[in-house]
Amino acid sequence: MKNSLCFVEEELAGLKRAGISPGPKILSTPQGPKARFEDKEVINLSSNNYLGLTTHPKLKEAAKKAIEQFGTGSGAARNIAGFMTLHKELEDKLAAFKGTEASIVFQTGFSANAGTVSTIIGKEDIIVSDRLNHGSIIDGCRLARAGIKIFSHKDVKEAEKLLKESKGARRILLITDGVFSMDGDIAPLPGLVALANKYKAIMMVDDAHAFGVLGRNGRGTVDHFNLCGQVDIQMGTFSKAIGSFGGYVAGSRALIDYLACKARPILFSTSLPPASIACASAALDILKEQPELIDKLWENTRFFKDSLFKLGFNTGISETPIIPIVVGEEEKAIKSSKRLFQEGVFARAITYPAVPKGEARLRTIISAAHTKEDLTFALNAFEKIGKELRR
Ligand SMILES: *Cc1c(COP(=O)(O)O)cnc(C)c1O
Repeated sequence: MKNSLCFVEEELAGLKRAGISPGPKILSTPQGPKARFEDKEVINLSSNNYLGLTTHPKLKEAAKKAIEQFGTGSGAARNIAGFMTLHKELEDKLAAFKGTEASIVFQTGFSANAGTVSTIIGKEDIIVSDRLNHGSIIDGCRLARAGIKIFSHKDVKEAEKLLKESKGARRILLITDGVFSMDGDIAPLPGLVALANKYKAIMMVDDAHAFGVLGRNGRGTVDHFNLCGQVDIQMGTFSKAIGSFGGYVAGSRALIDYLACKARPILFSTSLPPASIACASAALDILKEQPELIDKLWENTRFFKDSLFKLGFNTGISETPIIPIVVGEEEKAIKSSKRLFQEGVFARAITYPAVPKGEARLRTIISAAHTKEDLTFALNAFEKIGKELRR
């Protein structure tokens, strides 16, 4: 029996040689613009805490109040006994904010994607998907056991070709990330929506990196492109800009009721605890009441990107606060990330298979909570490291 797991040791050694280690950096402060990782204070350019909400007083207050009133756990799956007034209020509030008939809360963005795709799509169907879509979409596609057709990144023409070939399938799902998590570019949603209409496909958008970032008050990609009412399924997360935890799907009443009856993460996994739900709800109020946070996020993004450009760095095709610094070779990316950390800046190296070979990068993510001084400090470190690495 013991030897049956030998392969993990061998494979682990291979992973370590490739620079993939099991030990993440340990964070001993809240997730903030400055944070302490491995006992070192750094400017944090690696979290998805776009608006700095993880430490917002209103969210903390909402969590405490929810624990006092509702306790620490929901104690059951949504449809058994785990659907509290808090959950109901959040779903209604979110639907109103997104301008959809209804919404449903999942445990994570991951389960929202995997659970939704595999519920609405089956063996008789075809999924047409962008090559760089998130892992949770890919897993959803596999669970659905449908035919999967992949188009080159953002290639609307190729997507059309694949849709044309798919005529005759029972259902077709056209699916894309709204903002792509490794390059920070935005999906060509108007083109894709037109195709979905033409070929009668279901259109689904993953707003994980767009909710709280793009569109009026952070309503997301659909709002950004003025396509309200034209996208069937909008999925998102409360775990990034929203500063809490959990995932959601927003859409028509019938779609949401269908998912409520059939999606397996809803049926077979406990609903979110009161504190997370209350934080998400408080964060939605902040999006409505403090849009200046989002303005600050974009101001910081422009400043950082322009400055990197002036320093001669390649920020790829980024259009959002996700700003990659593409360095090419894996080793160079890993080495620069280590050197930056020594200089007090945390920017993760992203290597194959998260990005194609030869496109290794440092990925930086800007937050509204960064001060000009934080960003200038980081830029100085980049300048120093850039010089050292070029030598
Ligand atoms: C993070 C992410 C998810 C998963 O969301 P979680 O709430 O963290 O599970 C899904 N899609 C994309 C594009 C993401 O970046």
